[in-house]
Amino acid sequence: MKLSKRQEEIIEIIKASGPITGKQIAEKLSLSRAALRPDLAILTMAGTIDARPRVGYYLSMNASPPPFVRGTVQKPVSEYKAHPIVVQASASVYDAIVQLFLEDVGTLYVVDESGHLAGVISRKDLLRASIGTRSPEEIPVSIIMTRMPNIVMIGQDETLLEAARKMMEFQIDSLPVVKEVDKTTHTYSVVGRITKTTIVKAYLEIAGL
Ligand code: ADP
Repeated sequence: MKLSKRQEEIIEIIKASGPITGKQIAEKLSLSRAALRPDLAILTMAGTIDARPRVGYYLSMNASPPPFVRGTVQKPVSEYKAHPIVVQASASVYDAIVQLFLEDVGTLYVVDESGHLAGVISRKDLLRASIGTRSPEEIPVSIIMTRMPNIVMIGQDETLLEAARKMMEFQIDSLPVVKEVDKTTHTYSVVGRITKTTIVKAYLEIAGL
């Protein structure tokens, strides 16, 4: 699509200041909202920009994304996932800390007796539990873990970009890569892990470094 000069200006403004309301864009261009409306409609329909009620306009992910995004957008999680490190729900806080060091990871995934995902335990969870007790060997991780259904997961066929978005949105360092075992009971098996390190690695690989 060939853009008009004004449409290009709108994109530049949204790129620099998005999310931004139509009113604010109009002010920046010294135009009325009504004069701006057709261009905003065209750019939205073309998929260059997106609008969210009460938030404003922002650049759509499909609109000429930067190279890293272009590279990762198509990459499925399955190509990059690492081996998941799991502990049983009955394991103690002490055991989990040992496991964390042995495996050199920041997060452990907790599984129930059937091997299904039951929880997530991070280093801060373990630190918090440790300062609260003198006997970490007596507390099972199931008491302190973040449990289902509050676990943020990612499917094998989802993209690395989606994984990155979820980690940022929920402010977490890792995502269990899961396979659904049973839809009705919402049970999942853990088949991998994606961490912020995974994303950095992918970045370097795609950048050819
Ligand atoms: P830490 O803060 O220990 O460096 P995180 O930022 O990943 O690690 O974890 C912050 C909190 O979020 C912890 O309480 C942890 O249990 C929880 N958490 C970590 N990963 C997930 C996840 N995938 N889904 C839901 N909660 C998670």
